[in-house]
Amino acid sequence: MSIEQYAVIGHPIAHSKSPLIHQAFAKQFNKAIRYEAVLSPLDGFAATLHRLQREGYVGVNVTVPFKFEAYGLSQALSERAKAAGAVNTLSFHSAEASCQIQGDNTDGCGLVNDILMHFPTALASKNILLLGAGGAAQGVILPLLAQRPAQLTIANRSLNKAQAMLEKFAPASAIYGVPIAVNTYADCTSAFDVVINATSAGLTDTPLPLSPHLFTQHTLAYDMMYGRETPFMFQARMAGAQVLDGLGMLVEQAAEAFYIWHGVRPDTAAVMQALR
Ligand code: NDP
Repeated sequence: MSIEQYAVIGHPIAHSKSPLIHQAFAKQFNKAIRYEAVLSPLDGFAATLHRLQREGYVGVNVTVPFKFEAYGLSQALSERAKAAGAVNTLSFHSAEASCQIQGDNTDGCGLVNDILMHFPTALASKNILLLGAGGAAQGVILPLLAQRPAQLTIANRSLNKAQAMLEKFAPASAIYGVPIAVNTYADCTSAFDVVINATSAGLTDTPLPLSPHLFTQHTLAYDMMYGRETPFMFQARMAGAQVLDGLGMLVEQAAEAFYIWHGVRPDTAAVMQALR
């Protein structure tokens, strides 16, 4: 029997921990898989994807900067991928003569699962502040609303982008009965139960102009970035908040992708411990 092949496509990609994570998951089920990191030229994502499809790969993860292109190339989309407007997990489904590309987004579910694993009561009925209005922020809004917080506030450097997200998610806000507010950083001056940093400011160690009153000892401060302490994490830690980085989100989004492809849920805690 031939070995199932998977890959993560990105640019750059050498740093990716996805091959390590998926191999560790597969080992838990005594499954032999191949999972490789594939560097795609910036203008060659579609060609790279279609090559893997032709070569019989079962599924592919997609990372920066191709999540929007992956969305566009998907022939069927999950509800959460539609809401996110971006795709990080692709499955190739073979029918008689054709092979369909199915797109999903597991990032938001990864964030929520990671938070709830650490703090099971952290989200329901809580006041949540989401910093950023890029692809990552957009991908987590629906899963966050589904946890039925008391309120979700979105703050972004460019307010028009946050405003556009508010409009896009107004129907979901009504369905879940969770009000969404939009604000500038400067206007967020009161304490929140949860503050999630979905900006990429940490990549350049740029501090966000945040009020010192956002964080208390009861606040959970979550940075989607991992690998080092960002200025956001530092500010929150100094204010006595609980701080989590995005490594858990990475492992949890991978676990959800693994479930889509293999139909079984891996033990993420063991893999997290090994990565730390
Ligand atoms: P985007 O480029 O789509 O969005 C970037 C966001 O950051 C925008 O809201 C932008 O504001 C804001 N921003 C950038 N620089 C600054 C700054 N100096 N000051 C204030 N705001 C700033 O990126 P993504 O949404 O794809 O990714 C965001 C972060 O999330 C990245 O660090 C990424 O690594 C991380 N991530 C982690 C994952 C995980 O599994 N742990 C999964 C996905 C993402 P503006 O709109 O004004 O430009």
